[in-house]
Amino acid sequence: MEIAGGCLCGGTRYILKTAPFSLGDCHCIDCRRSCGAPCVTWGSVRRKDLVLGGREPRKVAHAGRIRSFAACCGTHLFFEESADSGTIDITIASLDDPAAFAPQKVIWLEDRLPWVVIDQSLPAFPKSSAEREAKKNKAKKLKG
Ligand SMILES: [Zn+2]
Ligand SMILES: [Zn+2]
Repeated sequence: MEIAGGCLCGGTRYILKTAPFSLGDCHCIDCRRSCGAPCVTWGSVRRKDLVLGGREPRKVAHAGRIRSFAACCGTHLFFEESADSGTIDITIASLDDPAAFAPQKVIWLEDRLPWVVIDQSLPAFPKSSAEREAKKNKAKKLKG
């Protein structure tokens, strides 16, 4: 399976070797600002399932996370919890055909803009989703 995506101008391209999972809308302030949009739909893939083509994206470290933007035209493409995280998040709207990848959850509702309408049929979380929190707690336990 190959799912292609890329930036606005076409200078940066990427391929996913598997379908993105953990699809969700993030309403956090950082996602909003970085995309200039009221919320951002993300999907995750294992790091090895993302293949970059064209120019190397520009990486911006902010709030302990790494966001990647197309160096050519600035499209926000990727999000990493850390440089060695097992998964990398993709902006679903940068896929050539995002239609099949509807969000399955809503996160960071705490930061939601009052005029954004939320799909009430989706599980929603005030901050990050439970599964992500669980992972973090597990990591903490392992560390210490
Ligand atoms: Zn571009
Ligand atoms: Zn966010």
